[in-house]
Amino acid sequence: MSLIEDIKIEYYKLPLKGNLVDALHGRHDFFEVIIANVLTEDGINGVGYTYTGGIGGVAIAKMLEFDLVPKMLGKEIENLSALNLYMNNAIHYVARGGIASFAISALDIACWDVWLKEQNKSLADAFGTRQPHVKTYHGGIDLMLSEYELLHSIEEKLLEGHTAIKIKVGKSNMQEDISRVKAVRNLIGKDAWFAVDANMVMSVEQAIKFANAIEQYDIAWFEEPTNPDKYYDYAEIAKNTSIPIAMGENLHTHYEHELALDIGNVKEIIPDCSNVCGISGFFEVAKLAKDRGLKVNSHGMQELHLNVLGAVDNAGYVEAHSFPIWEYANEPLLVRNGLFTPSFNAGTGVSFNLELLNKANRF
Ligand SMILES: [Mg+2]
Repeated sequence: MSLIEDIKIEYYKLPLKGNLVDALHGRHDFFEVIIANVLTEDGINGVGYTYTGGIGGVAIAKMLEFDLVPKMLGKEIENLSALNLYMNNAIHYVARGGIASFAISALDIACWDVWLKEQNKSLADAFGTRQPHVKTYHGGIDLMLSEYELLHSIEEKLLEGHTAIKIKVGKSNMQEDISRVKAVRNLIGKDAWFAVDANMVMSVEQAIKFANAIEQYDIAWFEEPTNPDKYYDYAEIAKNTSIPIAMGENLHTHYEHELALDIGNVKEIIPDCSNVCGISGFFEVAKLAKDRGLKVNSHGMQELHLNVLGAVDNAGYVEAHSFPIWEYANEPLLVRNGLFTPSFNAGTGVSFNLELLNKANRF
């Protein structure tokens, strides 16, 4: 195992096509990608990254450059969990969770890339449990669409090879949400996987009322009905509906995921390697889920998560998210009949096309 000789941090501000709106964050015009390139003394290059919805990326890049990179130079990439804990401890006092978790994620993913390349192993083979395929669903950011446009956008996704669909809910008029759910179920058929995501905007009472109204449409999960810090509210919602409650993208440590599972009664956990302290953090959450007889799903960065879920034996669904990071990666991303196929390449299976990134960069 070789030592880290150099780390370079890159920041990109990338445009989003369309007019993507969700209930809490409003319209998304840009997203940010922060890349950590780790070079070892033996000449192995590891690529890690994180992303945001357009805010906070500069702070993440600065925390990497000023705080984490100096700590990591000269370190040996051998025990990835220990390295992850070392990074967490280094900045814990000022920054547990939040931006710190995004910054640690980029470096953790780069260290995994190096570690796997040193062993000539793909991520899906990290534990000897390669899944031949992983299930995926299309995660639309589609609250701005009329019901007619929503159905048309879903038809396009079905033609691309998707079979499972998640839509945004959280309109000010709940009846509109209910009507959209009914219309989508009619479009995709009774057997198709179908979930909804409220992006945290409902009260407990609204969430229960909405859940009860849509139970008849066979909903796979109800994602982030309310404030993700309020685990007892999640438990209250879960107690009052038969629809499994889901969350994870706003939980930035595995400790928070544990609280969501044990207090919040969350049955579909959805961590994201970009903000849960990397692949190491994700695998911690996967184990928490497995210990409770649950599957683990993923949010965002599908080009990486298809390989992460390919490595675990309790894989749920990979979200095919609407931020197209994969368009800047060298590896193609293909969905066939609702499935992704994990990569056989040594490393995490994600590297970037710098020409494309620099051409699109708006920073
Ligand atoms: Mg979501």
